[in-house]
Amino acid sequence: MSISAAHDVAALPRINVMKPWLGTEEADAVAAVIASGWVAQGPKVAQFEAEFAAAQQAASAVATSNCTTALHLALVVAGIKAGDDVVLPSFSFIATANAATYVGARPVFCDVEAATGNVTAETIAAALTKWTKAVIVVDQGGMPVDLEPIRALCDPQGIVVIEDAACGAGSTYHGRPVGAGAELAAWSFHPRKILTTGEGGMLTSSRLEWAQRAAKLREHSMSASAASRHTSVLAPPEEYTEIGFNFRMTDMQAAVGLVQLGRLPEAVAQRRRIVARYTEALAHVPGLRLAQDPTYGTSNFQSFWMEVLPGFGSTREELLEHLAHQGVSARRGIMAAHRQPAYAEMDCGAAELSVTERLTENTLILPVYHQFTEAEQDRVIDAVKSAGRH
Ligand SMILES: *Cc1c(COP(=O)(O)O)cnc(C)c1O
Repeated sequence: MSISAAHDVAALPRINVMKPWLGTEEADAVAAVIASGWVAQGPKVAQFEAEFAAAQQAASAVATSNCTTALHLALVVAGIKAGDDVVLPSFSFIATANAATYVGARPVFCDVEAATGNVTAETIAAALTKWTKAVIVVDQGGMPVDLEPIRALCDPQGIVVIEDAACGAGSTYHGRPVGAGAELAAWSFHPRKILTTGEGGMLTSSRLEWAQRAAKLREHSMSASAASRHTSVLAPPEEYTEIGFNFRMTDMQAAVGLVQLGRLPEAVAQRRRIVARYTEALAHVPGLRLAQDPTYGTSNFQSFWMEVLPGFGSTREELLEHLAHQGVSARRGIMAAHRQPAYAEMDCGAAELSVTERLTENTLILPVYHQFTEAEQDRVIDAVKSAGRH
């Protein structure tokens, strides 16, 4: 390793953008599942579904292998198929658009508003087509989406609104958990999210018949679940009622999820303290616009982003490079799916995406994680401020 090159990152310990918050309780919970002899989807998954549904004020919850498969199931139970359009933000992780593609529908990209980085009733209205059968809204980075005006727009037209709440656990909308007002909401437990099971996801629904169908579809559409068959010595013959999937979560993951769910209020409170400290230190720096709670809800600040405006003195890329030199691993903001090779050549509607392009080019995500110390945060703050003075 070169010690002389001026562009080497500093010798300071590296600060990552994110670290999962896992402890011995999670390890003990997994060990107990292994000792039980039943590691696949079983009683722990059922318990995690029940407790997650209660925490999110959802009528029912179906655990899945990840959020992408939860979104896929949401579209299947909502009846979305080839020939249908699904309006969704380009400004999101690629899985949001991919889910529509998996069911043969066409993703139609709509723009977002600058304040929250989320879709609004207006940006959706501008993208609706006569083939639109569903809309996917996203609580981007944990920022709650303003769902009520969107449902007021879509419900009368028979358009199903699916909430991609991959990042939303612990965020609130009008005093309730995000997702509580949606017919279908999909959640992620990837380690990049605030609540993790390694890999994992959940589909919550206010409609029992959709949740029941999703629960069967996720397990090959078997008439009796593997766990229920296991409890009888002479298992009844099973039937496969339609072509399903294997989108199951394991009991080992669910055991971790139960511990993580218990930690969620503290995890959110700690992130909000960290963000308050960033806001105090950086809100008045010329040329920076920081993410903040909307008037109608609170963010879990799973991802805390800021926009670098022309008045800052450095571009977003220069700031990222400057931070890297200080050993701070920040990240470019949310991607724009319409610019990815996978979608660039596809006809994904004609809506204007100017705010999406502005935000994807000029935002970055600062480190926020549970174990982040004030000394580490001060290093990040100093690094950001010194970049602005260059
Ligand atoms: C992370 C994420 C997903 C995908 O979640 P997985 O659990 O990794 O499949 C989908 N949508 C959004 C908005 C995400 O942030």
